Amino acid sequence: MFNSEYLNELFERTKERNNSQPEYLQAVEEFFEAMDFIVCNDPDIEKYAIMERIIEPERIIKFRVTWVDDKGVINVNRGYRVQFNSAIGPYKGGLRFHPSVNESILKFLGFEQTFKNALTGLPLGGGKGGSDFDPRGKSDDEIMRFCQNFMLELYRHIGADTDVPAGDIGVGFREIGFMYGMYRKIVNENTGVLTGKGLTYGGSLVRKEATGYGLCYFVSEMLRVYRNDNFEDKKVIISGCGKVGMHAALKAQELGGKVIAMSDINGYVHDENGLDLNIVKMLTEKAPEFTQKYLEYRPSAVYESNPTKMWGVPCDIALPCATQNELPIEGAKSLVENGCFLVAEGANMPTTIEATKYLQHADILFAPGKAANAGGVAVSGLEMSQNAQHYPWTYAEVDQKLEVIMSDIFKKAYTEARKYTDHRNLVVGANIAGFMRVYRAMLDQGIL
Ligand code: GLU
Repeated sequence: MFNSEYLNELFERTKERNNSQPEYLQAVEEFFEAMDFIVCNDPDIEKYAIMERIIEPERIIKFRVTWVDDKGVINVNRGYRVQFNSAIGPYKGGLRFHPSVNESILKFLGFEQTFKNALTGLPLGGGKGGSDFDPRGKSDDEIMRFCQNFMLELYRHIGADTDVPAGDIGVGFREIGFMYGMYRKIVNENTGVLTGKGLTYGGSLVRKEATGYGLCYFVSEMLRVYRNDNFEDKKVIISGCGKVGMHAALKAQELGGKVIAMSDINGYVHDENGLDLNIVKMLTEKAPEFTQKYLEYRPSAVYESNPTKMWGVPCDIALPCATQNELPIEGAKSLVENGCFLVAEGANMPTTIEATKYLQHADILFAPGKAANAGGVAVSGLEMSQNAQHYPWTYAEVDQKLEVIMSDIFKKAYTEARKYTDHRNLVVGANIAGFMRVYRAMLDQGIL
């Protein structure tokens, strides 16, 4: 499978030891495919067991979260924090509240996060956490009780210089607020222990827009470098209408693109003249599902109840911004057939390995999430800097720094891609660039 025997043997062992963790194995496989270009030329990687160490989380914390719902019923959920790698800085990464959350998903996310954070150039290690708690349909009081009880255990494992969680799917301003309040009450300290905070208590401007805006800054660089082009008049389709998808849509439009289709879990809406993003924004502020309601405001739009069919809408640029493995091979084929020339991942690993390879072989420009969606965690890093210096930056200052970081990440991935393979292979480029930083830090710090 890989050219390197070392990687082949290690991957076999990893599969045996983690055979019930498909998402984690998928992330390791993609990473090893890139490592295959460098391990043979650098014997230190094998000698110092760098691969064995880097794919293994430093620590996994798993705990019970007990909370009482509005009817007085006692509920039990599982809470987790995967502290993946702290070689270059405190563990950093979001918390996901979703019924699908398990150790495999959090290990894949923490692993990806390690290299994504390294690419930002900021001192951020990799981590991820969350719970199988489902926030949908819960009252604010229930959310608060859950968050408080979650923090009642998590607080002892985190800290501004130890581990700094943030949001992810199911965790936004509201949840971060409740968790921060509980942390502050227990520890009696106001520190930057969480990011994605509200602006009144240490949050950063541009944090909520950061992943979506960052994605478009990254795509702009790809368009400029590979095609001497820009967003002007490009037809864009976006899956997912959470914080990432919504802000990607707004930025794509601001840069001259036309967002013609967007999806949620119930389906997608399509309008060749461009969706009215003011309406999408207004609807998604109330609830994450907007597609059916959109028709009440714009009856001329087309609604289709299967969200994955959106990949068949003819477009120039596709931005998968919902969740892992949402873009399978059939979707990739539809994109290619219908003229799409660029796919950039706003979510974490939304494209299956098979679909990624298909797109690359069809010469579609492809940006992996660990590079293209790093804007969120980058601004989280800037939030930590502002908290540490007790002084906030202006919107323009943060936005400008975000733009510089994203174009820098593109440059790093592009440079490594050119060095080792086809200059368009940003999957290999991003993995190698992120890895090299963590690898050097691990080597310098000895065998741990
Ligand atoms: N959950 C986001 C990500 O996947 C942000 C993490 C953070 O800000 O720490 O990168």
